[in-house]
Amino acid sequence: MRWEDFRQSANIEDRRGEDYAGGGMGLPFGGGGLGIGTIVVLGILGYALGIDPRILIGGAEMISARNQSHYVEPARNNRTATPPTDQMGRFVSAVVAQTEDVWGEILPAQKGIKYTPPKLVIFDGRTGSACGQAQSAMGPFYCPVDQKIYLDTSFFNDMKRKLGGGGDFAYAYVIAHEVGHHVENQLGILARAQRAQQQGTKIDANRISVRVELMADCFAGVWAANADRKWQILEKGDIEKAINTAQAIGDDRLQQSARGSVVPDSFTHGSSAQRVEWLQRGLQSGRIDSCNTFAR
Ligand SMILES: [Zn+2]
Repeated sequence: MRWEDFRQSANIEDRRGEDYAGGGMGLPFGGGGLGIGTIVVLGILGYALGIDPRILIGGAEMISARNQSHYVEPARNNRTATPPTDQMGRFVSAVVAQTEDVWGEILPAQKGIKYTPPKLVIFDGRTGSACGQAQSAMGPFYCPVDQKIYLDTSFFNDMKRKLGGGGDFAYAYVIAHEVGHHVENQLGILARAQRAQQQGTKIDANRISVRVELMADCFAGVWAANADRKWQILEKGDIEKAINTAQAIGDDRLQQSARGSVVPDSFTHGSSAQRVEWLQRGLQSGRIDSCNTFAR
């Protein structure tokens, strides 16, 4: 994909190389149920790495969007105000800028809503978030409480190794998927999904999670379609790379390789076929309304 000659986003918080000042900073202390915030927080990549999502859910259970009053902003020392200058940092920043320009245009045009972009935090190892401590092993995630995306770019290397693919557009799809959760947040979908999850059984909650995740896949496709229309960013083989990634991180594929069997009721992100289908829907239509995973 083309990104080198694009502007850099002003919404990147580069925390790489920062000492994580532990001591409970950024950690929530409240209780609260396991809601969509938590599930979204699991991201797609921890999952992609073959980590059993139940472990992640267990580990993330302390996360609660309703106990934000205890949240303490992590120390701000060493935080750079200037955009990253390394290749990976510039790539992430350019992709985020492309999502800002596209969503800034299509959210008002298609839904009559002003787009307020999320911040993206690049970190290494671990860092504080309003949804609890962000760790590399969790994979990238979106925290609806502070409206920030947390990304340890070492995951792109793991993705390449584990999924045997990678490639810039596959990484862009991952970033765009997380931005998709932010768009869902702006549309009020995350809040509604969370309420519905609290009223249902665990299986209902999983089904809702799948719809939320597939919508984010579709929104990633909507972004790519519009970005390509605007700037012709896509190069030969790009779509295939993203499709291969979507296929590789389907719940059935991951469960099959992690434990040799598949339990559809425990899916939280959707099967490979579903993930590919919804990504393609977004790619083909470029329309937000084509992503209504709750309609069927
Ligand atoms: Zn997700």
